[in-house]
Amino acid sequence: MQKRILIVEDEGSIRDMVAFALRKADMEPMAAADAREAQLAVAATVPDLILLDWMLPGMSGLELARRLRRETLTADVPIIMLTARGEETDRVAGLEAGVDDYVVKPFSTRELIARIKAVLRRSHGDDGSGVIELGGLKIDGPAHRVHAGADTIPIGPTEYRLLHFFMTHAERVYSRAQLLDHVWGGSVYVEERTVDVHIRRLRQTLQPWKLDGLIQTVRGAGYRFSATAA
Ligand code: CA
Repeated sequence: MQKRILIVEDEGSIRDMVAFALRKADMEPMAAADAREAQLAVAATVPDLILLDWMLPGMSGLELARRLRRETLTADVPIIMLTARGEETDRVAGLEAGVDDYVVKPFSTRELIARIKAVLRRSHGDDGSGVIELGGLKIDGPAHRVHAGADTIPIGPTEYRLLHFFMTHAERVYSRAQLLDHVWGGSVYVEERTVDVHIRRLRQTLQPWKLDGLIQTVRGAGYRFSATAA
């Protein structure tokens, strides 16, 4: 089934370029020039994913993302924000609004399509068996073990929890604060720097198998587990 992608972008040339690339990738584009048009489009047909320009006339892309997240109909629809370079520092605000990923302008349509596919493929959890295989890594929840091919990877408890969270939420960027919430739990006070320490240890753990690249740093935003080549 063709995936329906809503493009919310006020620049007609970018809208057309993205729509063309989506059709070529066998996806069905829907288009809106501002937040109001986007809301009307979504009310008519819920898309599989929304590409949302940060700078829109009237309501900003960020505010629209917040509203879409609050609506039952669109709460789970993945959102990729299109941002200009200067807006990168606001990524954390986007993550808190529930944005799934970012693509920085100017982007190649190849890069954009790859990101869209990755977000659409993103695993929301395991298949019920508790075993997840992604990017050459296998994590076995019930056995509490991590494998690369025939090898069992020795891993510390915190790195295991971090990796398990990443692999059940692949292709999605998380800020340090969000990782603290999800992996360490909100009950203890831990500095955000702690996240960096354990990310480093996790990469060192995976390094002998050359799998450390699966844990990506997203500048100004946080970290992501990605099984697609950067
Ligand atoms: Ca714009």
